[in-house]
Amino acid sequence: MLKIGITGGIGSGKTVVCRLFALLGVPVYDADTRAKWVMNHDPLLRADLTAAFGPDTYTAEGLNRTYLAQVAFNDPAKLARLNSLVHPRVGHDFASWAAARQHAGHAYVLKEAALLYESGSWQQLDRIITVYAPQDIRQRRVLHRDPHRSAQDVLNIIGKQLSEEEKLRRADYVVRNDDAQLVLPQVLALHDALQQLAATAAEIPTAPSTR
Ligand code: ATP
Repeated sequence: MLKIGITGGIGSGKTVVCRLFALLGVPVYDADTRAKWVMNHDPLLRADLTAAFGPDTYTAEGLNRTYLAQVAFNDPAKLARLNSLVHPRVGHDFASWAAARQHAGHAYVLKEAALLYESGSWQQLDRIITVYAPQDIRQRRVLHRDPHRSAQDVLNIIGKQLSEEEKLRRADYVVRNDDAQLVLPQVLALHDALQQLAATAAEIPTAPSTR
């Protein structure tokens, strides 16, 4: 069973594309959602975060996200520390999640993550799909989806993500979600290609592509 990453900048359409794969029966791991779960439920991570950021990191209700955001999001060193603690535990969670699906007959599973390269989690994956849309379209979509965000908020997030050019350069496959091409035929073609790749890989082990 192959492990395939799917990434793309904010608003590129990762979630929409993953929904199509899910309709085809492909298990999808949503790294952002799972990271929130892991931060609340992984005892090792909880101990490490408390040691790093103090006892206010958790309340009786669980992770104190407001506190952690205040402490870490305005200090690059603390943010790097937070990421260095969280990303490996999400990687561990993904490995367990994938192992639990190993014998269910799936040719491949997907891991959806906005920061697939930035977090280093690409190293756990056999191939990477990038969902691409031009920045103006992504900004428009996000402002429509997230009315609480300003145009500057979106630009700030874009500024913290790996550039689209770099993501395209490093991708094994690209889904163009740019209002010029239909997404569904691209997903169906990719599904076929990945099933074939999995069948071939089952006969001849392939090395993960180097990025
Ligand atoms: P994020 O990184 O913020 O999680 P994302 O890459 O997962 O974003 P989506 O949430 O899938 O992006 O899409 C962003 C918004 O754009 C959503 O409201 C979605 O419904 C809309 N959208 C995505 N693709 C299209 C499309 N082809 N046509 C119209 N709207 C689209």
